[in-house]
Amino acid sequence: MRSLIMRSLTSPRPKRNPDAIEVLVVDALRTSGTPLSAYQLSDVLASSGHKLSASQAYRTLARLMDRDIVQRIETLSAYVAKDEESDIVLVCGRCHAVQRLKQPRLKAHLENIAASHAFAIDAFVLEVTGHCTTCRDSLPSSPIE
Ligand SMILES: [Zn+2]
Repeated sequence: MRSLIMRSLTSPRPKRNPDAIEVLVVDALRTSGTPLSAYQLSDVLASSGHKLSASQAYRTLARLMDRDIVQRIETLSAYVAKDEESDIVLVCGRCHAVQRLKQPRLKAHLENIAASHAFAIDAFVLEVTGHCTTCRDSLPSSPIE
C-alpha cells in the first residue's frame, strides 16, 4: 500500500490524450455563449479544474479547425464551436455575441463576382460588425434632428 502511494506521489501525472482535450475544448466553446480566445479558453478550463496551456489550446483549436469542428472569428481573434455551416457571421462589437447565418445566395453572388474577375477563391471570411439587439437597445439614442 505504501509503495502504491509513494509511486503515485513520485510518478508524473498521466497525460490526457488529445481526444479528451478536444472534448473539453468543444464543450467549453459550446457553453461559453461568446467566442473564446485561446487564453480565455485556458482560463475557462482552469476554473473547472482542467489545466491547459495556451499553446495546448492553440494546437487543439488548429486540429479542430482542420476537421471543421471549430471556426475562428477573425474580427475577435477568438473561436466558436461550428455546430452547423454558415456563410456569414454577424459580430457584436460590444458584447462579442456572434450570429452565424446561412446565406447561400450571398455566397453564390460572391462566387460569380470572383469568377468574373478570374479569381480563384480559397476561402470565404465574411464577418459583419455592429451591435446585437440587446446592445443596440441599451445604446443611448442619437438626438433627432
Ligand atoms: Zn451585443
